Amino acid sequence: MRRVVVVGGGIVGLATARELVRRGHAVTVLEKEARWGAHQSGHNSNVVHAGLYYRPGSLKARMSVAGNASIVAFAREHGVPVEVCGKLVVATSRDELPRLEALAGRAEANGVPVRRVTAEEAREHEPEVAAVAALRVESTGIIDFPAVCRALVAELEGHDLRLGTPALAIRRALAGGGVEVATPDGVVRADALVNCAGLHSDRVARLAGVAPSAAIVPFRGEYYELRPDRRHLVRGLVYPVPDPELPFLGVHLTRMLDGSVHAGPNAVLALRREGYSWRDFSAADVVDVARFPGTWRLARRFARTGAEEVLRSFSRKRFAASLARLVPAVGPDDLVRAEAGVRAQALRADGSLVDDFLVDTAPRQVHVLNAPSPAATSSLEIGRHVAGAVERSWA
Ligand SMILES: Cc1cc2nc3c(=O)[nH]c(=O)nc-3n(C[C@H](O)[C@H](O)[C@H](O)COP(=O)(O)OP(=O)(O)OC[C@H]3O[C@@H](n4cnc5c(N)ncnc54)[C@H](O)[C@@H]3O)c2cc1C
Repeated sequence: MRRVVVVGGGIVGLATARELVRRGHAVTVLEKEARWGAHQSGHNSNVVHAGLYYRPGSLKARMSVAGNASIVAFAREHGVPVEVCGKLVVATSRDELPRLEALAGRAEANGVPVRRVTAEEAREHEPEVAAVAALRVESTGIIDFPAVCRALVAELEGHDLRLGTPALAIRRALAGGGVEVATPDGVVRADALVNCAGLHSDRVARLAGVAPSAAIVPFRGEYYELRPDRRHLVRGLVYPVPDPELPFLGVHLTRMLDGSVHAGPNAVLALRREGYSWRDFSAADVVDVARFPGTWRLARRFARTGAEEVLRSFSRKRFAASLARLVPAVGPDDLVRAEAGVRAQALRADGSLVDDFLVDTAPRQVHVLNAPSPAATSSLEIGRHVAGAVERSWA
């Protein structure tokens, strides 16, 4: 039996470990934090995406459509809370109609059923919405991703799962062609390495002697919640028409499984890889970002959007104004700060953001170097893809 060491106990690492075990391999999972899913997998919108946004044929498109079905089936089988409630993508002005139509075309190309709805029909779903037209997507859902992580851990019971265990150094084994990973508790020996280290995936790749084709830039996504007495303004999920130039979907309103309504996330550069507020600062992380030529090229390209995002981050009034474009009754006094998340977004040296999931391989190594949204939705599919790549790496 061959052993694979998986670095990173987020949803992607755990789903990959589960798939490897299903294929008859032994696994060791190393997670530096004291709990599973402590970072991106535990700080996100908890939306099961349908797959309408992504370039047809891309890994994101294929794996989100398949992942939408597989994560919902997994959740139902394991008693994880999930609800396939559908969502509304709302054009708030006539200028947005061509982009809404392009999105409908993309959804159809990806095999995602969508319905074009009039402003009146949109208001039957969401009475408070300001729409000139909308798309109704029935297969979008809401889920509890931390509970998915717990269910994956439960399936892996009896295997070598190690919390509080960072991978500190990685080298090729001197004999047998495997890998050795140094941890504070000793060396783990395995036949192959999988890197699912999220916000640190480029660093873990470098530890393993691989020069990653892109660097991770941490983008914080901040959220507000609607005050309990204003929750009635939103029944389900209300999204704007995204700007195709930007990698993120734009602030949206999401009714969560517990009935609360979350608003966000925005996107500001975090001053630490796991920087959940402006106070979280790491000189080493800032130097890393500042030294990378891609950052400066990206900053030049998106100077105005970036500045607006920072202003909105400090101003509840501006945040509320963005939300009021979708639901005009939302005002600054309706919003209460909620927990933020930090996205691991890969950036190339030429300043372009890596749009698709990115998985690089080296002998006996597989590195997941870009797994932003919708990677939680797609996690079981990414796990299958990575497990296949591991088996090919030692074939
Ligand atoms: C604000 C926000 C909203 C999002 N909304 C959605 C959504 O609604 N739907 C959706 O599908 N996706 C969403 N996503 C994306 C989704 O959360 C991520 O794509 C997914 O969680 C990535 O999982 P992961 O396992 O790759 O990363 P992570 O969950 O970040 O896990 C990586 C793990 O590696 C560990 N690690 C790092 N370095 C080491 C080391 N050296 N040794 C040991 N362990 C290490 C970390 O501690 C961490 O636990 C969102 C993300 C954010 C941030």
